[in-house]
Amino acid sequence: MSSSYEILAAATETFSSLPKEAILKQDVLRCGLAFDNEVFKVSSDYKPKDYFIFSFDLVTLEDMPEGTAFKAPEEIRLSGGPLGMAPTVISVRIQPKSPYCVKLHEGRPALFLQDHFLGFVDFHGVPEFYSASLSSGHLISEIVPVLEWGYLLYITAFRLCQYWGEKEECRFCDINANYRQQKKANRPYTGVKDPKVIVEALKYVAEQDSTAKAYTLTGGSVTDKLQGLDEVDFYIQYIEAIEGAFPGRWIGKAVLQAFPLKDCARLAGAGLKIYHPNYEIWDEALFKEICPGKESYIGRSEWIKRVVDSVEVFGPGHVIPNFVGGVEMSQPHGFKEVDAAIASTREGLEFFMSRGVVPRFTTWCPEPTAWLGAQTAPPLEYYCKLLLSWREVFENNHLPVPPGYGPAGVGKAVFSVSAFMDVIRDEK
Ligand code: SF4
Repeated sequence: MSSSYEILAAATETFSSLPKEAILKQDVLRCGLAFDNEVFKVSSDYKPKDYFIFSFDLVTLEDMPEGTAFKAPEEIRLSGGPLGMAPTVISVRIQPKSPYCVKLHEGRPALFLQDHFLGFVDFHGVPEFYSASLSSGHLISEIVPVLEWGYLLYITAFRLCQYWGEKEECRFCDINANYRQQKKANRPYTGVKDPKVIVEALKYVAEQDSTAKAYTLTGGSVTDKLQGLDEVDFYIQYIEAIEGAFPGRWIGKAVLQAFPLKDCARLAGAGLKIYHPNYEIWDEALFKEICPGKESYIGRSEWIKRVVDSVEVFGPGHVIPNFVGGVEMSQPHGFKEVDAAIASTREGLEFFMSRGVVPRFTTWCPEPTAWLGAQTAPPLEYYCKLLLSWREVFENNHLPVPPGYGPAGVGKAVFSVSAFMDVIRDEK
């Protein structure tokens, strides 16, 4: 992944209507982050990466420099520096060869782009509830890890996906490969979580934490049965257990497949507020290539229909499907020109946003063990144009700030895997 201070400075000038913080955030996410191990020697009491579902790293655990694996923080928060950066929370994707490196400066962790000091960084502290002992013996950090600077509890009920192998797994996704590498590294990594264990963990969160405001329930797709249950029955048991024990305590969100209306109604009836039936990529031909399992089990047109229909149940602004920003430029099948990629993705944004659906994006992380493999990320120009398109279509449709993502706007946003929340303007 290449970037340079000159590329960053040029993008900041060309796309001057975007906050410089959002541009930098996208560049760091695109290129990944290197760490000087000295940083870990002076830092303590921060939360390392919990590997909450995917690896979200640009190298495997085995290929990380000695001392980096399981030491890197979940997120960094950059502020100040010569450019006067507003606080900016960025998810950590390890890439030892990145031009972005966290190293010590005046005795404190700081972000550098090549030799350019960009500002000091903080790491998020270990939440108090992480020290609780669960009766099952599980680590609470494995059951309900926290992200987004403490805002989001991330509950991966099923750490595998039944879309299996080259012909089914989404080609950007390393969920199954990450499970294998975590087990190989002897990490506690529970494949299927018990709802009772989750409720016990959440009891400690409810007692000791006031920062988290939302939870995301997620996991791989269930195409057959899991523990004798189909996908809706499997995931709804968690929503019922959580909402039964802590009704309305957090905003309930779930990343699940696109279901027919009757199943959506069951999820909403159980207390789910935000539905994320991720459509991943808009282009019709690329969807078939990149999401072969979703295409063969449900099909793109049916998937899209279900996403739109589900607004009837969850309400406008409460259906927030993800797309993987940049994967439409993956090779060998993706777009080669930035403007063609943006035109396609914008078409999808206009289609959904004009129907009350608010897609959001995560930044494509070309993990080496996903089927697409390690690839060169799209250029920074792509991400700047994507942010501009997302914001324009969002504003043109007069949509509300997406609920369940914490505060919006530069210096306030905590969503860490893309800058879509950072670019929302105050006047919205
Ligand atoms: S549905 Fe696709 S993106 Fe989701 S876990 Fe399965 S393979 Fe990964």
